[in-house]
Amino acid sequence: MFKGVLIEKDENGYRAALKELDDSLLPAGDVTVKVAYSCFNYKDGLAITGQSPVVRRFPMIPGVDLAGTVEASSHPEYRVGDSVLLNGWGVGETHWGGFAQKARLRSEWLVPLPVAFTPRQAMAIGTAGYTAMLCVLALERGGVTPDKGEILVTGAAGGVGSVAVSILAKLGYRVVAVSGRMEEADYLKGLGAAEVLARAEFADPGKPLGKERWEGAIDVVGSHVLANVCATMRYGGVVAACGLAGGMDFPATVAPFILRGVTLAGVDSVMCPRPARLEAWARLARDLDLSKLDAISHEIGLSDAIPMAKTLMAGRVRGRVVIDVER
Ligand code: NDP
Repeated sequence: MFKGVLIEKDENGYRAALKELDDSLLPAGDVTVKVAYSCFNYKDGLAITGQSPVVRRFPMIPGVDLAGTVEASSHPEYRVGDSVLLNGWGVGETHWGGFAQKARLRSEWLVPLPVAFTPRQAMAIGTAGYTAMLCVLALERGGVTPDKGEILVTGAAGGVGSVAVSILAKLGYRVVAVSGRMEEADYLKGLGAAEVLARAEFADPGKPLGKERWEGAIDVVGSHVLANVCATMRYGGVVAACGLAGGMDFPATVAPFILRGVTLAGVDSVMCPRPARLEAWARLARDLDLSKLDAISHEIGLSDAIPMAKTLMAGRVRGRVVIDVER
């Protein structure tokens, strides 16, 4: 038996509850993992609250991330006792995920836990942090370097934003953070932001083009914020877009792309091919200041996961939430 958060949907409605589950209920897979830690991502908040239809099979255990130890394996690459990490691949959406003490997974989804990180640190980073690094890599691929100009990070006090600010600052960029919570300005400056701007400056419908300011940008918000970010990019700048915290729409014009040569680079972590994942985790080991992870993250027990989902959806969580599945 193991404990897990179970989401059910039937004639009695959509609900999540912490349950004792039998191992025989675990889905098919060639590796069984004893989960040590999981963490909260935006998608897990959507899954538990049912705010958006991210869960596509019921009953479901949410949790797009997990870190733990191999308990059983029929795949030669993984042996009992190996430390492993998982991000995405539809886990927590179509396959039982990390908000449980045990998971059965497909070996090709797993990544060996980088030696630089403990399982807890890997989950303090989680999909949010790994996506932040994919965004940084997208900026680099577009030729953005610290000497060229400022980088804007939106939704900065959230998970992706906090890790992005920390990485970029360590790499020597001048980072400008955008947040709806100006009370988090000191926190963001502590992570390395040189300046913090109010979200309100970007939230309303804007002009097709504005004053050129940003060499690069990482956007987790979408909608008018992303449109205004694109409109204020410098000539040849690169925007890495990965999120929709403010909306799925993109009410923009093509002006920044055709008149300023701006690149809009889409970033997906879920189905991201393995070589790019390994590259992102290797770069996290090199370019993320581990002392910042303590400031970015806090820990809860599995029993606190359900109420935490509402707090996250209300945009009231700062940084990252790690889940100790043993409590
Ligand atoms: P968090 O909930 O930790 O952070 C989101 C942040 O966005 C909030 O902290 C807040 O920042 C800002 N925000 C929240 N609501 C709004 C709003 N209505 N309008 C404008 N800004 C808002 O989530 P994550 O950082 O984990 O994820 C951010 C986004 O990135 C999500 O949309 C998520 O789905 C997406 N994502 C995508 C991935 C991919 O593979 N493409 C992977 C991981 C995440 P502040 O208070 O500072 O303004």
